[in-house]
Amino acid sequence: MPAGIVEPVRTSPFRTPRPPPFSHSSATSLLPEPISGLWTAEDELRSINLGECSNGRVAGRGQSGDIVVERAQLYDVVIVGGGPAGSTAATLLRKYRPDLRVVILEKEVFPREHIGESHLPAISAILDEMGVWDKVEAANFPIKLGASFTWGANSERWDIDFYPVEKFRDEPRPAKFVGQRRHTAFQVDRSIYDKILLDHAASMGAEVRQPVKVQHVLHEGDRITGLRLEGGEVISGRHYIDASGTVALFRRDLGIGGTIPEELKNIAVWDYFQNAEWAVHIGVGGTRIQVRSLPYGWIWFIPLGPTRTSVGLVCPAKYYIQSGKTPEQLYEQALIDQKEIAALLVKATREGPVRSCKDWSNVSDRAAGENWFLVGEAAGFADPILSAGMTLAHSSARDAAYTIMELDRGEHDPAWLRSRFDERTRLGIQQHIRFGQYWYSANSCFTDLQEHCRSIAREAGLNLMPIDAWRWLSQGGFSADLIGQAVVGSFDLASAKQVVQRFDKAGRSPGMIIDGKNTFKLNLRGATESVIGDLRDGRINRVPCLVRRGAQLPLVGNFAVVVDALKVSSDAAEIVSYLRNYVNLKYAPIHRKHHFDALIQALEALAQDGWVEAGVNRKKPLMNVNLTDSRHIRSSSQSEEAIAKVDPAERPTYKSNI
Ligand SMILES: Cc1cc2nc3c(=O)[nH]c(=O)nc-3n(C[C@H](O)[C@H](O)[C@H](O)COP(=O)(O)OP(=O)(O)OC[C@H]3O[C@@H](n4cnc5c(N)ncnc54)[C@H](O)[C@@H]3O)c2cc1C
Repeated sequence: MPAGIVEPVRTSPFRTPRPPPFSHSSATSLLPEPISGLWTAEDELRSINLGECSNGRVAGRGQSGDIVVERAQLYDVVIVGGGPAGSTAATLLRKYRPDLRVVILEKEVFPREHIGESHLPAISAILDEMGVWDKVEAANFPIKLGASFTWGANSERWDIDFYPVEKFRDEPRPAKFVGQRRHTAFQVDRSIYDKILLDHAASMGAEVRQPVKVQHVLHEGDRITGLRLEGGEVISGRHYIDASGTVALFRRDLGIGGTIPEELKNIAVWDYFQNAEWAVHIGVGGTRIQVRSLPYGWIWFIPLGPTRTSVGLVCPAKYYIQSGKTPEQLYEQALIDQKEIAALLVKATREGPVRSCKDWSNVSDRAAGENWFLVGEAAGFADPILSAGMTLAHSSARDAAYTIMELDRGEHDPAWLRSRFDERTRLGIQQHIRFGQYWYSANSCFTDLQEHCRSIAREAGLNLMPIDAWRWLSQGGFSADLIGQAVVGSFDLASAKQVVQRFDKAGRSPGMIIDGKNTFKLNLRGATESVIGDLRDGRINRVPCLVRRGAQLPLVGNFAVVVDALKVSSDAAEIVSYLRNYVNLKYAPIHRKHHFDALIQALEALAQDGWVEAGVNRKKPLMNVNLTDSRHIRSSSQSEEAIAKVDPAERPTYKSNI
């Protein structure tokens, strides 16, 4: 063995009860007492029957078999990669289990540049849970209220707002994670953002080692035994998390395959500009990112701070090859072709050099093994059109941290915990890939890519008729993202249906099953009882659900409320009254409509999956479903009209430069 290399510790992963101490009389412990009753790396060392000590090493026989170990190299959790996924996992592990030894191995010295700048609101809640939201807010990143697109059936510009722009109010910054800010997201300069998160993980007690490159994964079958660093040192732990991003280190070294949809093989070319005009100023520091279709691809325009803006082009790899142009030539052509973006850049200075990468959507065949987890982009990548990569990174890392803590607690079946993580992580990526396929194939603005769009639809088995497209998009169920809520990909059910309508050339809607009906009967025939995990406050709670022919009915959150209402009555008026009473009791007046709409969406989701049979009683009025307070999707001119209607004293500052 080369000098400096220490044989990896053979630990038994997922061990939960504390093993009895060794009886050998010479056993010594110089380590502090553990602060909880759970098994940690400290316990592993304490359990070692110490033989000889030399050069800081401790050699001997532990609970796990023959080992030679250096204290400094044995961890509870070893994380590869200090990007958002790695920092999230480390922070949450240390938040809920401060007794755990957690190390992040990061090959770069931060700050380092990275692409992936536009958040979704779901990240904000995770940042808050991590205790880092205030630090991110203090960096003064633009508030993302939503996005403006030219995309779909025609070239009309339209907006998706996370929070109705007309209800947004001018508030001083830095603000707190309350009120309207719970619904917004950030647009971040990754060199600043990733460093805030990594420093925060360190402040929570995670050990951060950088620059430290992991070169190889040492493993015995599916069990990782250590990570060999560049330079030869070996780091060992009880659990391993791969947060190495696109490098996907564990997949590479453990030989784990993946799926790459052939037609979502795109390339991205981008650069940064100083002093570009923002397309729109909303409130204090708020804006929307801009997405514009071109005949051969699309452009993003994402302000990252008061003066710096990220501008990029995405197009199919095939188009790039056939064009015979360099990435820089393609990029410059796009900035000439897209007149609105060009106008915003007239007085701006390009930083250069132009950056490029391939952005091939993919999903790993597995996301968890005996003592390892894949999080963030190491588990897969969904096309950036939906700005979902960072959301998937933060949420899968949170999930891995929760899963590890539950494995240590030993209260749940370890096989269930691992397969739950595996399924949720991969389903989240698959749903976003499916959405990506739909977004590309349904964009009539890609006039140079017609055959390409048709082949995406063919490859995906997608028929663009709204009702079929909707069925195809929502396969995989509603419960993958947010347990107990009717969410598909990153959209609530009503918004996703609005997108389908917007992409249809004739403006047809996939419709709502419950619309025009007035009786709703629970149909639980043939369902079997099962459980799903609900992540809260550092615990994975097992909550009941029903399953039938692949469809899942989680008896939690909005679904549980609707099921309770349906148990009381099958009459629409009585169900609506039950749901109204529920939101009136539970929420402040300003939030009631939003929560009531979410319950109606849950009812629709249950009807779609066959848990509810919707019918008509001709003697009674029919239900008229109008979900106007879901995520707002409307033409940009409608958004501006909505603001104009607000009393000027209340109206948010709104200045459009396009
Ligand atoms: C063109 C493009 C545009 C995108 N736009 C968006 C967007 O607008 N919104 C969005 O949400 N997402 C976007 N994404 C996706 C986003 O970039 C990723 O989802 C996100 O960065 C994933 O975070 P992560 O922590 O998993 O990985 P990363 O952020 O890549 O972090 C991985 C870290 O691991 C380190 N590492 C790698 N190998 C090793 C090793 N061997 N040893 C030690 N350290 C190692 C790396 O140095 C890196 O710091 C985009 C992606 C692309 C390609």
